[in-house]
Amino acid sequence: MLPVLSFESVSLDNISGWFNNNIHADVLRLDKISPHISGNKWFKLRYYLDQAKSGKKKGILTFGGAWSNHIVATAAACKAQGLESAGIIRGEEPNTRSLSLQDAVAFGMKLHFISRDDYKLKKIPCDLDTEQWLLVDEGGYGPVGAAGAATILDYSGNDYTHYCCAVGTGTMMAGLVNRAGENQHVTGVSVMKGNYSLENMLEKLLVAGQKNWRIVHDYAFGGYAKYSPDLISFMNSFYAGTGIPTDFVYTAKLFFAIKDLADHDYFPLSSKLLIVHSGGLQGNRSLPRDLLSFAQHAT
Ligand SMILES: *Cc1c(COP(=O)(O)O)cnc(C)c1O
Repeated sequence: MLPVLSFESVSLDNISGWFNNNIHADVLRLDKISPHISGNKWFKLRYYLDQAKSGKKKGILTFGGAWSNHIVATAAACKAQGLESAGIIRGEEPNTRSLSLQDAVAFGMKLHFISRDDYKLKKIPCDLDTEQWLLVDEGGYGPVGAAGAATILDYSGNDYTHYCCAVGTGTMMAGLVNRAGENQHVTGVSVMKGNYSLENMLEKLLVAGQKNWRIVHDYAFGGYAKYSPDLISFMNSFYAGTGIPTDFVYTAKLFFAIKDLADHDYFPLSSKLLIVHSGGLQGNRSLPRDLLSFAQHAT
């Protein structure tokens, strides 16, 4: 299977009407690039892909869970660039693989399942020759990933007062902060419960010790990949109101948070927001059918 990437379909969708107050808000629709190389993932990977090629590696070796957007995106991006890929997957091999892992395999990724304890230690199975591979951290975390993520903003104007994004490892957010001007502010919405090490992880990736950013921790809905009926009904009403599909792990929590923050006057009068839709829709396939009013997957 060869992935299809369509950068020309990225759009800026105005959703100011969806807010109750006089906020200007545009959504940067990175979800439209590809159902597989979702949203921010190709941007985070782009310079790793270059490094793998210039370092004469056979491909990228990376880590993730069974429904990981990063795993699918790495498999697809490597396939698109003629590289091999290998994924170290958290947990014992299940009888039936998730649809995400099936996609990764269809893109040629070799999967190596390791126990959750070994995964915590990021143990690399000894049958993998690490010399031949470019090792990429979970989620593409690192300065190389952040440098790639900064190029997300090539797709927008720069007259925004605020950039808003979901935060997993903080790599994308660091890229946005590094690219933002002094008078611009970046708000990140953590999708993990009480992950207060994020601020530190982000700071490590900043090139100039910037302070014009904040991570909010109040919108995790119980934790990573957790959801409630409220979150699902929010996703359906957001889609009805804007025509924009979201994923339950990252972007639904992002839009919910931004709306709630705006309702509580977090954004000063006449703010102009750019909200990054970082994709992730493929992960909605892990939800029970019929919860969502929009297609669970683009293909
Ligand atoms: C991976 C991912 C993120 C988180 O990006 P980080 O750089 O790890 O913070 C956000 N949104 C979606 C849809 C993702 O797949």
